[in-house]
Amino acid sequence: EDLSWQRELREQFPIIGAHPELAYLDSAATSQKPRAVLEAVQTYLTTSNANAGRGTYPWANRTTELVESTRERVKEFLHDPEPGRSGVHFTSGTTGGLRSVARDWLVPHLTDGDEILVPYADHRANLDPWLEARRLLAERGADVRVQALPCQPISGDYDHRALAEAVGPRTRFVAVTHVHHVYGGDMNVHRIREAVGPDVPICLDAAQSIGHQPVHLDDPSLDVDFVVFSGHKAMALPGSGAVWARNARGPAFRPDGWQGTPNTVGIVSLRAALDWLDAAGVERIARWTTTLTTRLTDRLRHLGPYEVLGCPASLDAGSALPTAQRRHGIVTFRHRDIPSDDLGFILYSHGFMVRADSLCQAGTDERDGSVRVSLHVYNTAEEIDRLLNVLASLT
Ligand code: PMP
Repeated sequence: EDLSWQRELREQFPIIGAHPELAYLDSAATSQKPRAVLEAVQTYLTTSNANAGRGTYPWANRTTELVESTRERVKEFLHDPEPGRSGVHFTSGTTGGLRSVARDWLVPHLTDGDEILVPYADHRANLDPWLEARRLLAERGADVRVQALPCQPISGDYDHRALAEAVGPRTRFVAVTHVHHVYGGDMNVHRIREAVGPDVPICLDAAQSIGHQPVHLDDPSLDVDFVVFSGHKAMALPGSGAVWARNARGPAFRPDGWQGTPNTVGIVSLRAALDWLDAAGVERIARWTTTLTTRLTDRLRHLGPYEVLGCPASLDAGSALPTAQRRHGIVTFRHRDIPSDDLGFILYSHGFMVRADSLCQAGTDERDGSVRVSLHVYNTAEEIDRLLNVLASLT
């Protein structure tokens, strides 16, 4: 296979080229930034930096125009089938976006006796805002029931059959995760839509899918009402992110417009990042990172002292992971005898940057530590093989 395209994309990341002795394997925490994004920020700051939304001179007008047109760019990136109806609201990231959906949409629109379904074993950012919404509603005298989205024990996938039973006539909202930040599994959103029926709004935490795999809203299997993501995990700067709202089920999402100065530099970086990702080809990125994670998982599963989280141990030792169990850019594991933070330090001593702790998973604490390897388009098969050699030496 000709991998020159991958080498060319990798070369566009200055930080990677500057450190050939290091392997960055922590892209689920934040991605590295391509030169095009760095240059867009530099150009903006050296040619038209101003505040947005209040200008009477060209730099300010240009900044306002950049912010507004980036909303349209986000819709385009998401293949929004109805851009005239939907809205894009810029936030500080996924955490801020989910908070905004909870505070600005859920709280004003739920009433006493309503029910919501939310994930209890995904990222904490996709649980705390819903619990907070329940508290705020209770203060107003509305008792809203928060139910856990049922999960399957080992894989972390949602239990779609149990989910169908949990949905009732008062279910008003479901929050789900697109790709799990620990297991790396695709959470099969189309099956959630099937289980909850056509009328219940679904909010998608796309923190780990944007830029990693197509998130195309014209695909009927992605019939969700909110898409929330962080720019910094998708090649843009920290502090940038967005909520896309379909505005077709229930009241429209209208958070306050200009609440002070928007993160103009972050928004400029987000626009450049989306341009870069479209040019690089997100489908190609997805195929590449899935190839690398499959290579890592298939070998790691058979290394004695390691447990790969989310992989059933009962699978035949010699067999490859079934397609449905494939991990997308994320592999999390434990060593039987080496605590995860020690394993993290050992790996760094060999030049590998990984995440090693409880990974912000709801319902876990520091004792449940693990090591997460997470990839993006700049990672290589050679990095995975070197990592596997080091892991294999730690018996
Ligand atoms: N949801 C998921 C699935 C995540 O992986 C993360 C980041 N680790 C977040 C939410 C929170 O994202 P941010 O810190 O960018 O707000």
